[in-house]
Amino acid sequence: MSFRWSRRGILQAGAAAGLGILGGKRALAAPAVHVRRFQGNRPLVISSGNGLAACARAMEMLQAGEDTLDAVIAGVNIVEEDPDDMSVGYGGLPNEAGVVQLDSSVMHGPSRNGGAVAAIEGIKTPSKVAKLVMDRTDHVLIVGQGAQDFAEAHGFQVENLLTDRARERWLRWKETMSDRDDWLPAPQTGGRGGRGGLDPTADLDAADEFDAFFRYHGTINCNCVDAAGDISGVTTTSGLSWKIPGRVGDSPILGAGLYVDNDVGAAGSTGRGEANLLDCCSFLTVEFMRQGMHPKDACLEVMRRVAAKTVDPRLLRKDGTPNFSLNFYALNKAGEYGGANFRPSRFVVNEGGESRYEDSAYLWERDQ
Ligand code: ASP
Repeated sequence: MSFRWSRRGILQAGAAAGLGILGGKRALAAPAVHVRRFQGNRPLVISSGNGLAACARAMEMLQAGEDTLDAVIAGVNIVEEDPDDMSVGYGGLPNEAGVVQLDSSVMHGPSRNGGAVAAIEGIKTPSKVAKLVMDRTDHVLIVGQGAQDFAEAHGFQVENLLTDRARERWLRWKETMSDRDDWLPAPQTGGRGGRGGLDPTADLDAADEFDAFFRYHGTINCNCVDAAGDISGVTTTSGLSWKIPGRVGDSPILGAGLYVDNDVGAAGSTGRGEANLLDCCSFLTVEFMRQGMHPKDACLEVMRRVAAKTVDPRLLRKDGTPNFSLNFYALNKAGEYGGANFRPSRFVVNEGGESRYEDSAYLWERDQ
C-alpha cells in the first residue's frame, strides 16, 4: 500500500490499496482517503524535553541548507557530550556493574537508510557511530565490543564515560538496594542495614524521571523535516540506569526507539524501552500517520495500545494504569507534530525561532 503527500497536502491512497486487491484476491476494504491541509511549518525540529539546545542547533543547520540527518545528529551531540545530562552519552548513568553502555540509532529519510549501535562502551557520541554504520557498512546494527572496535577503526577515542556524579549515584543505589549484601551506605545517609531510612529519591532533580523501581529514565530523540520535506531522526541514550550488563533498550532498535519514512514522517521515543519494544511503537506511530492520523493523535493511539497491553501487576498502579513513563514524539511531512505520554509531560519544538516547550497529549492526570 502506498500513500503520497501532494503539494496541496492531500494524502492519497495508492491504486492497489484503493482497489483493496492483494495477491489477486479482494483482501481488504478500500481505506478512506484522508484529506488534510498543511498546517505545520517547515523546516521543523522536535525532540524530547532535554533538547532545547539540540533543536536550536539542528534548526540552524537546516536553515543553512545542511542535510536533515547531519542536523539532528549535530543537535544531539550537544547532549551526548554534556556531563550534566545523566541519561545520554558522557556522564550517563551506568549499568549494574558501574559501566556506561550506550545505545543509539539514526534514520535518514531521503536515502531510506538507517544505522544503529547498542551496548557500546567508551564512545561519547554513539549517534555518530550509528551514522557510520549506516554510511560505511552493509549492516544496520553493531553491538558491544564490535561497535567499539568499529568506532576506533574510524578514529574515535575510547574514553572513560563515568563521571564522579554518575558513579556516586550508582554507588548509592548499590549500597542501598539490599540489607543482605556487603555494601553499606555512609553512616550519615542511613548507616548499616540497607535503606535504613535513606530516601533514594532525596537528591533527584525536579525534572528527573524514575520508575517504580527507582531506576532513572532519560534519552534524547530528535526528528526534523526540512523545507523540501525531507525527514530524519536520531535517538541516543545511556539507557535504563542499573540495567543488567548487555541489556539493550528500544533506542537502537529501528521501529521501536525511532522510525522514519520519508513519505510520511518520523517518530521516536523515550521512557521504558521494554514497553516500547513489545509493540514496535515508533513504526506503529508512523503507520498511524500513514493512515491519515495527525502526529499527536498517532502518538496518543500508541499510548492506548501500550496501556492495553500492560497487564503485569508489577507494572501497574493500584488503579490498573501503567506505573512507568513512556513518551512518543512525531512529525509528518507536512510539518505537523505532536507528543504523548500516559500522564502530563512535555517536549521541545523549534519552527525557526527559539526552541520552546509544548505539552504532550496524555491519557491520565499525574496523580491519577
Ligand atoms: N528508552 C530508554 C531505554 O529503555 C531509556 C529512557 O528513555 O529512559 O533504554
